[in-house]
Amino acid sequence: MKPKILLPKKIIDEFSRQALDEFPYECCGFLIGGSIENGIEAVEYVPAKNSRNTNRKRRFVIDPQEYLEVENKADSQNRSLIGIVHSHPDAPDIPSEYDRNHAFAGFSYIIISTTEKKINGFRSWRLQEDRKSFFEEEIQVIA
Ligand SMILES: [Zn+2]
Repeated sequence: MKPKILLPKKIIDEFSRQALDEFPYECCGFLIGGSIENGIEAVEYVPAKNSRNTNRKRRFVIDPQEYLEVENKADSQNRSLIGIVHSHPDAPDIPSEYDRNHAFAGFSYIIISTTEKKINGFRSWRLQEDRKSFFEEEIQVIA
């Protein structure tokens, strides 16, 4: 069976609002959660700052210090950092080459396709073990 991610409606609302607020730039943030049978469950969304100085419309980078802080936060809750969310302004919700080169194995990558006015959609991706491509992960929205 393919892995899936359980995603609370509240988190979807949070990252959707952030994606619209930060348009035309890429927004980004962390998913904290844990493992469940056949997948992972997100329990909290932590917005992050897109720290790139150039081309923030097409790229994002998160400061290592922010990774450390969110990992500590997750540890203190007996949870884990399980994934990264970012937006693609005026672009589809599929990973770019840049995304693939910067992805970590084992993380879920939710990509939001957004325009100035509305969210077109979002999908969750995981890196294949050989790092050559992503595969799509099923999203199950929960209350
Ligand atoms: Zn991307």
